[in-house]
Amino acid sequence: ASGLYFIATPIGTARDITLRALDILASADVLAAEDTRTLRRLMDIHGIALDGRPMVAYHDHNGASARPKLLRALADGKSVAYASEAGTPLVADPGYQLGRAVTAEGYLVTAAPGPSAVLAALSVSGLATDAFFFAGFAPTSKGQRQSFLKSLAEVPGTLVFYESPKRVHKMLADLVEVYGEMRDAVVARELTKKFEEVRRGTLAALVDELDGVTLKGEVVVLVARGEVSSFDEKDTDILLKEAMAAGSLK
Ligand code: SAM
Repeated sequence: ASGLYFIATPIGTARDITLRALDILASADVLAAEDTRTLRRLMDIHGIALDGRPMVAYHDHNGASARPKLLRALADGKSVAYASEAGTPLVADPGYQLGRAVTAEGYLVTAAPGPSAVLAALSVSGLATDAFFFAGFAPTSKGQRQSFLKSLAEVPGTLVFYESPKRVHKMLADLVEVYGEMRDAVVARELTKKFEEVRRGTLAALVDELDGVTLKGEVVVLVARGEVSSFDEKDTDILLKEAMAAGSLK
């Protein structure tokens, strides 16, 4: 059917793609991708031929000029499949503006869900998964990163960050500064790939463990939710004052 199909693609192992995603890639009128070579390679692995179908590059730098082309295809009643470089489009990847434009025009938008590093990392983390906050990439400058982390201090759930392997040490150091040494955390690297590795420990233990270690590949950093107390000090003060004013405490 005509519409935009967001296709989740593997975050490592090429066979992590759904049968429906492959069906859509085989039948869509137009293929769009953040990196057309990556999508071609994936289609080759799964024996899906292009058969002369147009392939359109759509990424952060050409979105404004590529969107009208894709909208025109939809206006012509065509189906468009969009895949980002890896994992789920729109999750720290392009696709949001495209989805917005397509829904604003009233065309169908549907998803072929599948891999995403957020969920893979949560699955193996051993941390609470009942509630989590996906924070994407933290700012790279120390000051901005620390205020960003402070703004997340009250989130009642596991925090999930994407991070460059080069910056993991600095990120962990800032996490210790903002949240203290004792929070449980996880560094999940190269998920679903040959060198998959999951390190778990308190923030302080992870800082020690990774001291002098060069990390390579792709990394997700997770931080356990802080102890949620029912009252912070300020609230307790107010309650005490109210109780004293009411004469129930001396
Ligand atoms: N759209 C993707 C998704 O759904 O996960 C994320 C794209 S984002 C540009 C790339 C980041 O995702 C990496 O820097 C890393 O933090 C994380 N990531 C992607 N694949 C990963 C993997 N196999 N193992 C660990 N982290 C991964």
